[in-house]
Amino acid sequence: MLKGIAASSGAAIGKVFKYVHPQVVVEKKAAAADELEKLKNAVAKTQQDIRTIQKMAEGKLSADDLAIFDAHLMVTEDPEFIGQIEEMVKNDNVNSDYAVDQVGNMFASMFESMEDAYFRERAADIKDVSYRLKCHIQGVMIPDLSLISDKVILVAEDLTPSDTAQLNKETILGFATATGGRTSHSAIMARSLEIPAVVGVSGLLEAVNHDDEIVLDAIDGVVIVKPDEAVKKEYKTKIENFAKLRESLKVLKDAPSVTLDEHHVELVGNIGTPKDTAAVIANGGEGIGLYRTEFLYMDAKEMPSEEDQFEAYKAVLQDMNPHPVVVRTLDIGGDKKLPYLPLEEEMNPFLGFRAIRICLKRPEIFRTQLRALIRASAFGNLCIMFPMIATLQEFRQAKAIYLEELNKIKAEGIAHSDKIQVGIMVEIPASAVLADQFAKEVDFFSIGTNDLIQYSMAADRMSEPVSYLYQPLNPSILRLVKLAIDGAHKEGKWCGMCGEMAGDPTAVPVLLGLGLDEFSMSATSILSARKIVRSNKYADLQELAKKALDCATAEEVAALVSKSVK
Ligand code: PEP
Ligand code: MG
Repeated sequence: MLKGIAASSGAAIGKVFKYVHPQVVVEKKAAAADELEKLKNAVAKTQQDIRTIQKMAEGKLSADDLAIFDAHLMVTEDPEFIGQIEEMVKNDNVNSDYAVDQVGNMFASMFESMEDAYFRERAADIKDVSYRLKCHIQGVMIPDLSLISDKVILVAEDLTPSDTAQLNKETILGFATATGGRTSHSAIMARSLEIPAVVGVSGLLEAVNHDDEIVLDAIDGVVIVKPDEAVKKEYKTKIENFAKLRESLKVLKDAPSVTLDEHHVELVGNIGTPKDTAAVIANGGEGIGLYRTEFLYMDAKEMPSEEDQFEAYKAVLQDMNPHPVVVRTLDIGGDKKLPYLPLEEEMNPFLGFRAIRICLKRPEIFRTQLRALIRASAFGNLCIMFPMIATLQEFRQAKAIYLEELNKIKAEGIAHSDKIQVGIMVEIPASAVLADQFAKEVDFFSIGTNDLIQYSMAADRMSEPVSYLYQPLNPSILRLVKLAIDGAHKEGKWCGMCGEMAGDPTAVPVLLGLGLDEFSMSATSILSARKIVRSNKYADLQELAKKALDCATAEEVAALVSKSVK
């Protein structure tokens, strides 16, 4: 059994199609008589490839994702790019694949070194097109994923956007990749295609061979190689149940999130990049409850500029308008590092210099992000959220910096919203306990249970041996959650939750009963949460919550929930 990250929910059993990009080796040679002809043919074939892939992807991918292929076509038509290759063949008398290699590398590194994120992304387009050109010149077969006719599970090091776009849902049961995380490009594409995917599986390529039978479990994020009959039987049931459930939930996409006795809550999505909004909308999300902006920083080679950030925030706000979008300011440190922001090694990084603590020490980083956010607020319904707030002083300091930037933007006459809400994550027990005081000064809370549980239980969320202490249903955690919700309500503020607990089907009824206003979760959990909301009475769940708070253990709470919830 190999562990990875469940990037797109579902499961499959099937034979492996091991997909390896053929290596093209380029050697410098003297140009053949028909060298320019070879180049011309390769350009035509590459354009044909791209158009075919684009056609196949229409209707499957968002307009944004499809635009990648327009960019690829533009590269093949660019007189600068193709012109320089031709010049090199003629002037230096070299083979065309060598010229493509040289000119392609030169253009790619030129784009990679540019300030603007848009141009940096163009480097990937140049590389993709150069690769195809070299393959066609040398007559190397590029495996055509769209031609796979047997039902298979794809296994690869990673998949490029053009690979993923070619995937036919009828034949590709799912995929596993050795690299990538939940927000890698292939993971995002898998979610919008709704095929199960497990990414970041270390040791995958060594453990799995072409034609092996495997179980791809993208619910729990594991790959089981050569499963025995008992495991296969277990998974057949799991897959059938999953398919039935998904189908039955579809009717709830546009249904309101209200209980049988008309208590209304908001079910919203967690995202890591602007592209993730598509899946939230497709699954009936009523807004974004957590945009983890650190991925914008982690995917960059240097601090993203105000302009780059503005574009990303604006895209999300516009996509979701008029629904609310809660954007969390930079939460780096702990297990998340930035290569261009060296931080001292610490004994306990999760208890160390991270999130708002860094932002308050490095206000120039914080101010750039706040400016980008305030400018983007003109395009939708923005809520700004500070992570890892432990004391009111920290909140006041952060809010003061925000107000300074807001006033500057006002003075500069730049468009912005007057209705931006400013809140905090309640993820440190200190702020949960003092929620009634915080609530007087913030506009909202969002409870971050991933951290709140690790700090309450003193159990590192990255440590396998203490993972049994991740107990969302432990009454101690429920009481902290209650303090946050009650504290907010006493001051007329709203309280959400964006930790994994918010989408956990066993926890949802109790949270509802405790009075949580907003539940933010991964897009694919939204519809099952809506089903729970719509099948129960708020009054009953309030009773349930009361009893849960009086339980002694998490197991008792779980038993109570399974006994009393529909
Ligand atoms: C949390 O701590 O619950 C949370 C949502 O934030 P993250 O998982 O990004 O730390
Ligand atoms: Mg957190």
